[in-house]
Amino acid sequence: AKKYILHQHFSGLPKESDLKLVEEELPDLKDGEFLSEAVYLSVDPYMRAYEPRLKLGTVFIGSQIAKITESKSKQYPVDKYVVGQFGWRSHTITSEEEAKDPELSIRILPDFGKLPLSLGLGVLGMPGNTAYFGFLEICKPKEGETVVVSGAAGAVGSLVGQIAKIKGCKVIGIAGDDEKGKWLVNELGFDHFINYKKPNLARDLAKCAPNGVDCYFDNVGGEISSTVLSQMNQYGRVSVCGAIVGYNSDLSTLPKATITQGFIVFKQLKIEGFVVIRWRDRWMEGIDQNLKWISEGKLKYKETVTEGFENMFKAFVDMLQGGNIGKAVVKV
Ligand code: NDP
Repeated sequence: AKKYILHQHFSGLPKESDLKLVEEELPDLKDGEFLSEAVYLSVDPYMRAYEPRLKLGTVFIGSQIAKITESKSKQYPVDKYVVGQFGWRSHTITSEEEAKDPELSIRILPDFGKLPLSLGLGVLGMPGNTAYFGFLEICKPKEGETVVVSGAAGAVGSLVGQIAKIKGCKVIGIAGDDEKGKWLVNELGFDHFINYKKPNLARDLAKCAPNGVDCYFDNVGGEISSTVLSQMNQYGRVSVCGAIVGYNSDLSTLPKATITQGFIVFKQLKIEGFVVIRWRDRWMEGIDQNLKWISEGKLKYKETVTEGFENMFKAFVDMLQGGNIGKAVVKV
């Protein structure tokens, strides 16, 4: 078995030497335990954001889809697939007791029919529910409204824009690459795309949203978000999902935040952050709805798949730098 442990805390963009790939000998199973073998592992921005809270020497965090290959548990029988926070490990022994820990979010993978298992890490898993609940419950979009999504071509953003289209909104996606923009507009049905790496985001946004912005789903924070806030309409709603602009930066060296409070006051905006596990009790509602939309052809997904457990780090850093379209996953 292999696992990645945190060797050194990250400073800026993570370096390969910050993690260490180590081999481990696993003991025989005890009663109530099961052994699972990773099939797909997820790489997500939250891993970067969460890293400062991890102790050196611990297994690096992350969820995976794994196949149960040995079991002394009736609840977790051989050949079933599980999804959960097993960390960056090739093989994991878990007890039934540990599997109850809400932090580990271990569940038997629901049946996706003919769809790939890896979707359990994307549109039919945590990112899918982040889009579904984080957008609908906080932005409460109405038909005909204008919605802006940043981080638009990623795992969460690409779904938020499509859900907004399903709800009859006009959708503007912001991302950092023109190829991503073509996919959003030509294949996913976004109305407009803006490349934030080109100058004059404010002018481009005003052109795409001449009547202002009603809902903003914010994956990135920073100047992009200050610009969007400045063009919101009265009683606009903002769902704050993430702040990836700051994840790889030393916060003390970032420019001082733009003053956005004036817009918030005079436009009477409602701004709310969330963590998706807030909707833990409704988890299957989001998965079932996204599955239904996929089967109806209303929700499309893309995955950027990196092959090989040994390439986890590369996949992680590529994703942090925008190398992915849709959900970034590693296939063992
Ligand atoms: P993505 O698939 O969107 O991957 C990250 C993307 O971020 C990259 O592809 C890149 O795209 C973009 N990016 C990187 N650096 C910057 C930057 N400096 N400015 C703007 N964009 C940048 O990841 P996810 O969809 O998994 O996550 C999106 C956001 O949602 C993250 O902030 C994450 O932390 C958050 N999240 C929050 C959850 C919650 O419960 N609140 C749950 C899940 C995710 P590009 O080419 O466009 O630059």
